[in-house]
Amino acid sequence: MLKSEVFNHIKPKIKSILKKALNSEEDLTLEEGFELLKVTGKEFIALQNVADTICFEKKRDLVTFVINRNINFTNICFQECKFCCFSVPDKNKGFLLTLDEIKEKVIEAKRNNCTEVCIQGGIHPDLTFEFYLDILKTVKDVDRRIHTHAFSPQEILYMSQLFGDTIENTLKELQKAGLDSIPGTAAEILVDKIREIICPNKVSVSQWKDIITSAHNLGIPTTSTIMYGHIEDLKDRIVHLEILREIQKETHGFTEFVPLPFVRENSILSKQNEFPLKYSYGVADLKLYSVARLFLNNYINNIQTSWVKLGPKLAQISLNYGVNDFSGTLMEENISKSAGAGFGEYLPPDEMIRIIKSAGKHPAQRDTVYNIIRNY
Ligand code: SF4
Repeated sequence: MLKSEVFNHIKPKIKSILKKALNSEEDLTLEEGFELLKVTGKEFIALQNVADTICFEKKRDLVTFVINRNINFTNICFQECKFCCFSVPDKNKGFLLTLDEIKEKVIEAKRNNCTEVCIQGGIHPDLTFEFYLDILKTVKDVDRRIHTHAFSPQEILYMSQLFGDTIENTLKELQKAGLDSIPGTAAEILVDKIREIICPNKVSVSQWKDIITSAHNLGIPTTSTIMYGHIEDLKDRIVHLEILREIQKETHGFTEFVPLPFVRENSILSKQNEFPLKYSYGVADLKLYSVARLFLNNYINNIQTSWVKLGPKLAQISLNYGVNDFSGTLMEENISKSAGAGFGEYLPPDEMIRIIKSAGKHPAQRDTVYNIIRNY
């Protein structure tokens, strides 16, 4: 229950936005979301309190996680996104896994009780559509019950070009081959003027929306993400949230929202001086989690933290800022590691359970679409 003194000594404008959010009946406007992204001090604490209250009303103290593994099957990519440290444009310097190697990784995932494999790769110039289909079939040949969470909207666009057919028909083929859900990556910031600078060769905002809504309309759920803390400003972040909220009103296909802070250490974006970088530190990270909980209220119920990007300690703290999911155990995390994230590539389930319990929450293992598998 919210203590009334939390609202003492804060600006009337912020107080009225927070009260509106607590009431949960009306959507926050873009302007209101923007105001909340700027709060500091006591207003920040009041925002935290409201986010935590709304999260508690929906989830009680349940914090979920999924046992999964990443399979990044190639790092060869010609897209040249300026924030990316994972990709290698030269075919002779990168790797491309064979189907047998992918199968070995799926078998290893099964041995480690993974319910999901998350499969993404670079945009390799020599791939065929059949290879993508064979990846899915390979997983399902090992065990049909393993959930394939696979291929970013960027990869889906590339596949539709290889296949020479529409996005919808491409998705239908993938579905037949065993695709269960899609990561809502390649979203970065859904503002074209920012995308033109950080990832000029990537899907546009309208292409991203089209691919995601086509998937949802075919009954393929997706996650939703934001990559923030680079050259965008706070308004861009809230515009991004608004786009996700509008899609979800129409399709109900997002399973969760995952804020991903830009990992700056090794990227071209960090080395250039042309566009000043606006890094996100801990308070801004926690503020975005909280604002997402309020802004997406009634639409996206699961807000996921990223222990890979934030580190397990700050990720644990985020559980008091509107977050109800601790993400995946992630055997073999390559993308953030190559960008310079200093945190592990695997967090064993026991460790995750300990972290969640020591935050005073109740851990539960879930599947990809948030069915509870086991309470701890
Ligand atoms: S973010 Fe993805 S599409 Fe962009 S360069 Fe990296 S691997 Fe390629």
